[in-house]
Amino acid sequence: MEYNFPVTRTTHPKPRPADESKLGFAQYFTDHMFCMDWDEGQGWHDGRIVPHAPIEIEPASCVLHYAQMMFEGMKAYKTPSGAIQIFRPEMNIARMARTCERMCIPELPGDLFLAAVKAVIWEDRDWIPSSPGTALYIRPFIFGDEVSFSVLPAKHYRFMIILTPTGSYYAANDGGLATTRIFVQDEYIRAARGGTGFAKVGGNYGGGMRASLDAMKYQCKDVLWLDAAEHKYVEEIGTSNAFFRINDEVITAPLDSGTILPGITRNSVIQLLKKWGVKVSERKLAIDDIIAASKDGSLQEIFASGTAAVISPIGCLNFKGTDYKVADEQVGPVAQKLYDTLYGIQTGKVEDDMGWTYKLFDLK
Ligand SMILES: *Cc1c(COP(=O)(O)O)cnc(C)c1O
Repeated sequence: MEYNFPVTRTTHPKPRPADESKLGFAQYFTDHMFCMDWDEGQGWHDGRIVPHAPIEIEPASCVLHYAQMMFEGMKAYKTPSGAIQIFRPEMNIARMARTCERMCIPELPGDLFLAAVKAVIWEDRDWIPSSPGTALYIRPFIFGDEVSFSVLPAKHYRFMIILTPTGSYYAANDGGLATTRIFVQDEYIRAARGGTGFAKVGGNYGGGMRASLDAMKYQCKDVLWLDAAEHKYVEEIGTSNAFFRINDEVITAPLDSGTILPGITRNSVIQLLKKWGVKVSERKLAIDDIIAASKDGSLQEIFASGTAAVISPIGCLNFKGTDYKVADEQVGPVAQKLYDTLYGIQTGKVEDDMGWTYKLFDLK
């Protein structure tokens, strides 16, 4: 199906960030955004592109009280040959469908979603940065917007896409990788079986902030979550999936508990490692085994994977007040190779023999 969205262009284009090395994450937003509405009977309608600006919302709108919402995260890149491409969008579409189903949010057809992403990126295509480590981050989200205090699914929804040029999340000064310290959270939990851990929803994050603040008290950038039932097995690192390399085996938590966010970067890491002949396992891994591996020298690497940072290596775990080093606290070879390959494919600098990139435009 062909979609045509009316465009209201801004009369006040913003200055572009002067220094691409200082973009940070979500500090600047582009000139435009995509909006669309859903009503019973009409379904999704009135897709449009308008200037990026604050929106009006009724204070009694249900999302502000009961958090019926979902979001996605993607990135667009400009390739050396002048194309604009995104990464595995069919995975975002499939995940969005699962999240919407869990949250009783009406499903957004994949082709409509992709047409909206394409249309808004076209408007703001000259906002895509090109320095090493940078990308245009895409944040699509849907929320229930109905004046109602009954705890029932809303009868009106809004879908929006906003865009922000970003550097990498935990970047070293040169845009490359740097290791971070992580706090092992053994009190609070992120997600329990039967909950919304597998869905990309704000509520998972709101409940996690107390733990993130605690982590910062220990000079840690983020939290390593343990399972809710026993506080024993590792699950995720903050807003990303977690990988542990011990005795040349790379281990990540399995998805079957429904408490892990099925990351697209996670899936890509597993596929690349298999292709490279690296032993990779999706299995439960106890924090005690990781601590023991740190002590006996068999803990080779820990890294996190996610769209925002791509790959972020961990140099040290803080667990029950003690620091446990990951090898020599330097960026490990597997993390570095994964970062170079993934970011290379995403930016069109490494040949995409996985068929992962999705070209939106050829500017030439
Ligand atoms: C988005 C997200 C991830 C990473 O998923 P990607 O698709 O790789 O970006 C991991 N964990 C949580 C909690 C997330 O919200």
